[in-house]
Amino acid sequence: MQKLTRNALTTSRKMGKLKNIVRHISTGIINLLYPANCFSCRSEINKPGLCPQCINSLKPVKAPFCSCCGQPCEGEISGQFHCSNCSGQAVDFEFAIAAYLARGCLREMIHDFKYHRRIAMCKTLAKLAENALDDPRIGGGKGWLLVPVPLHRRRKRERGYNQATEIATAISRRRNLPICRALQRIRYTSSQAQLLRSERLGNLSGAFEMRPSPAVRAAIKGSQILLIDDIFTTGATANACARVLRSAGQAEKVVVATVARG
Ligand SMILES: [Zn+2]
Ligand SMILES: [Zn+2]
Repeated sequence: MQKLTRNALTTSRKMGKLKNIVRHISTGIINLLYPANCFSCRSEINKPGLCPQCINSLKPVKAPFCSCCGQPCEGEISGQFHCSNCSGQAVDFEFAIAAYLARGCLREMIHDFKYHRRIAMCKTLAKLAENALDDPRIGGGKGWLLVPVPLHRRRKRERGYNQATEIATAISRRRNLPICRALQRIRYTSSQAQLLRSERLGNLSGAFEMRPSPAVRAAIKGSQILLIDDIFTTGATANACARVLRSAGQAEKVVVATVARG
């Protein structure tokens, strides 16, 4: 990695630490003023998020799962396998792994974090996402560079923040991993949720590009990237991002890690 990149990453880490301190102080004050309740069952807890019982009720993604998209599969399968969606499909990421299935309170939590500005949920979601980093193929994240899936400027203005960047920043802080906002979304596309799988793929062509910065280019070239997002559904968004990181960015490999799987 070039000196320029290291400097850029160090400066952004220092800024991150400062923001972290400010955030800690303000969170402490908020916690004193408003005691927290579990997001799901409303029982009293000391930090915003989920109580231990509600965390235990979440459904972790457990083997056997597709070695490409991480889709869990019922039954006894040992060794690597591809699910019916992935068989014969060429994807630009190595594999995708989610920590949990997007069901029940986790699904609602992600929805509120994304659409109702429940920023306090960020730390809990980042903590949950870290279980995906413990996949033996990622080995905790050491040696990987975190890249959040970007939002279009207009969408970010509407939402107030990019949920993927918030989660990636929290993981970066907790695990001391480098982060690089390498991508930008240049097309404002209609909401993916309304579209069919084939339409989603078409809808995203040309939607992303690398940020035009020499420091970003140097950081991505030859790196192992962990592309971070809140939820993995069809994989169309992750694949479009992975394609740009690998072709324009010349990343060595891209792995997709998300909190949940739709
Ligand atoms: Zn609860
Ligand atoms: Zn699959």
